[in-house]
Amino acid sequence: MAGEPQDDCLFCKIVAGQIPATLVRETDTTVAFRDINPQAPTHILVIPKVHYRDAAALAVAEPTVVADLLREAGEVAGEEKLESYRVVFNTGSGAGQTVFHAHAHVLGGRGMQWPPG
Ligand code: 5GP
Ligand code: ZN
Repeated sequence: MAGEPQDDCLFCKIVAGQIPATLVRETDTTVAFRDINPQAPTHILVIPKVHYRDAAALAVAEPTVVADLLREAGEVAGEEKLESYRVVFNTGSGAGQTVFHAHAHVLGGRGMQWPPG
């Protein structure tokens, strides 16, 4: 069922504590942890505890949790003392999404170009 944990989902396993991750924050609805392959000095993933394939699907089903993700992205940036940062939702494999459990990338600590390429 939509929103329920998926047996084959890496991020559901991180939420359940079945795969280790370097957690930086946790709330009732979200978990934030360091990306295993960081693309910037700070690269943290903020994910909902519920399973939806991407942020848009999460927004349709549970819009308040999208607000939770964005609030937590800001909290993470504050804790990391980032004056500037980027929040990225890769959506679809053509855009670079590889894990089909909604997640926000919080990237900072270096200068960034626009567009990212
Ligand atoms: P996507 O490419 O789907 O937007 O982002 C998935 C992110 O998950 C990638 O940046 C990738 O480095 C990260 N990732 C993949 N496997 C793991 C893992 O086992 N642990 C952690 N902490 N991050 C992971
Ligand atoms: Zn999942």
